[in-house]
Amino acid sequence: MNLILFGAPGVGKGTQSALLVEKLDMRHISTGDLFRNAIKNETELGKKAQSYMDAGNLVPDEIVIGMVEEVFENLNGQSFILDGFPRTTAQAEALEKLLDKVGISLDKVISLKVPQDELVSRLTGRRVCKGCGAVYHIESKPPKQEGVCDLCGEGVIQREDDKEEVIKTRLENYENSTRPVKEFYQNLGKFTEVDGTGSTEEVFARVQQNLG
Ligand code: AMP
Repeated sequence: MNLILFGAPGVGKGTQSALLVEKLDMRHISTGDLFRNAIKNETELGKKAQSYMDAGNLVPDEIVIGMVEEVFENLNGQSFILDGFPRTTAQAEALEKLLDKVGISLDKVISLKVPQDELVSRLTGRRVCKGCGAVYHIESKPPKQEGVCDLCGEGVIQREDDKEEVIKTRLENYENSTRPVKEFYQNLGKFTEVDGTGSTEEVFARVQQNLG
């Protein structure tokens, strides 16, 4: 099963991908995580991406597509979940060509849906571990000891792009550039929508039901 998890920033794509990967032997491909790793490792790719990310803007298509092409070259037949890609229609078109080239087909696009005001409170309250990337929320899932990761003991911080002024830009970019991707997959008959509200487990149950 090859999937795309689609939806606005803060909708729960990363959380649901992690649960799916735990259950099924799939490769989680998060373009946001790939960029954050590149920044952490101070690579050329990271240097190119950082200013766009910090401002809440999309990294240019050719950079993202090049990075994803590399991942697919090393996939070795493993099933995948794409999280945060494609984010523009040009990226969706490039993905179709890429999948054709490597002889893999996409099964489904699952779009998670959450009202806008909830997205904002999820994003502003989100905190992440600098070390292992574990995700917390100041109200619904705080770490046991403030600022310290329960899993690895590293510092828990707010992502630069989860600050309120940047969130506004990210949500605008979603509306303008990413939402149109929905139509692209609707036309291919691969698009389904899942209610992303409620607990992580409730959403996961809906996702699993959708996957059959
Ligand atoms: P995410 O972790 O998915 O919210 O992504 C964090 C940031 O990485 C985004 O706000 C963009 O700046 C950048 N990014 C991640 N994926 C893409 C993509 N497919 N296209 C353009 N920029 C991306």
